[in-house]
Amino acid sequence: MSNESMPRFDASAEHFRTAIIATVGPASRDAETLGRLIDAGVNIIRLNFSHGTEQEHEATLKSVRAVARERGVPVAVLGDLPGPKIRLVEVEGDGVDLMEGAEVSFQRSCTRVTSADVLGCTMSGMVDWVQTDHRVLINDGQVRLRVMQTSADAFVCRVEVGGRVSSHKGVNLPDTELDIDMPTSRDRDLAAWAVDHQLDWLAMSFVRTAADVDALDAHLKQCAKVSTRPIPIIAKMEVPVAIEHARDIAASVDAMMVARGDLGVELDLAEVPAVQKHLMSICRDADLPCIVATQMLESMIEAPTPTRAEASDVANAVFDGADAVMLSGETAVGRYPVETVEVMRRITRTTEAGMRSMNLVSGGDLELPQRQIHGGEVALTHGVWAAAIDSDARCIIVRSHTGAWARRLSRNNVLLPVLAFADDSRTVRRMLLYRGVTPVYFEELPEGPDLWSLAEREVRSRGWAGDGDHVVLVTGSPVRAGDAAASVVVHRLDAAS
Ligand code: PEP
Repeated sequence: MSNESMPRFDASAEHFRTAIIATVGPASRDAETLGRLIDAGVNIIRLNFSHGTEQEHEATLKSVRAVARERGVPVAVLGDLPGPKIRLVEVEGDGVDLMEGAEVSFQRSCTRVTSADVLGCTMSGMVDWVQTDHRVLINDGQVRLRVMQTSADAFVCRVEVGGRVSSHKGVNLPDTELDIDMPTSRDRDLAAWAVDHQLDWLAMSFVRTAADVDALDAHLKQCAKVSTRPIPIIAKMEVPVAIEHARDIAASVDAMMVARGDLGVELDLAEVPAVQKHLMSICRDADLPCIVATQMLESMIEAPTPTRAEASDVANAVFDGADAVMLSGETAVGRYPVETVEVMRRITRTTEAGMRSMNLVSGGDLELPQRQIHGGEVALTHGVWAAAIDSDARCIIVRSHTGAWARRLSRNNVLLPVLAFADDSRTVRRMLLYRGVTPVYFEELPEGPDLWSLAEREVRSRGWAGDGDHVVLVTGSPVRAGDAAASVVVHRLDAAS
């Protein structure tokens, strides 16, 4: 590599940022470990509502907020609704062994499993919905059954792949249409809790269509007694029907998560990488943040270093434009939660730096999305990118009221970092999900030239730009609905200033 093609930003630079989301659990919810996770690079804490009580989540939330306050850094909290996850009922002892070729009956009335012949699950309606030939997958698809016969109160399956099943193991029905109202009543309670506790993001599990999201949206508005969505919604893409409706879902949510855990059970595992790329491209077209989740550094649940393949998985998500990479069991129950975050951050930083160097090698060409007609704000965003590239600006600085300008500006393919100022701490926390955006909270933000002086001080003190460098400064302006306006300044940092 010649000198000219060396990266301009090294891996330790803080200019560009792929967010790290860590799920907290028994291994990490004490204040000390939370602090270490944040120091190691976690931007967003995920409360997985599938486990634990509201009291436990409340205690964790308080700790996260206190630890973030102590450190003076923004940390967002994402609540993850469980959705209609089907589980086996209590199974006696260590579980029962389902033998290949055996017949097993799922009975509506079964509330406790005592033998391998009769099973029961937490969703009794399942007996009404499954049809002959549907697949029933237990424990992440490790045990596989096929329905042979149905009746009013039971259905009989043949075991195709046997194995041990134990209490509360997950059950997936990839071929069955679940006739359930979404959000579930448990989701509604937890969503109300999320509104009351001002969570920053809310993820909806097992979304099927945009109508499911609309129903959650209506519920959230009702809980908050407001007419605009009080918490941005993330659609967890984990069932085949959602992939079919992905573009419609993208139009009704604020972000998407490629939830590869359930996706890899509901679909053939071999399809998951392609679906991940497909969903990421839908997010790109819709200017939506995209989270890549599950088993990213899975081996670190037990081991202090990841496999090469896991390191590549994280890096490829960054190469493909993920806004965030997520840890689940690694930080919730793993032996090395802090080390896992350190490794993840090293991989994301190094990949970002590598991408920047490659962009410089290829001339840093800006590619605009292949769309014919753009709305005013998107068109203005492209104009800002072009101004930044033509002036060789070191970064874009934006004053964002709701985070929308920061989100749009961050969707460039040349890794132009965005420094986003806001005087609303929730906006700051929400912006943590946007790739390449570094949000900064100010209690009061000045207007006009005073804002530009503040911006200059910030970029200088962070070492993002120095004498003679250009930066681009953007503030959106309120205009008539349907119009778009922004003030854009290409600013040169003078030696005297
Ligand atoms: C997933 O299935 O990948 C996921 C993120 O959801 P959960 O952890 O709730 O299973």
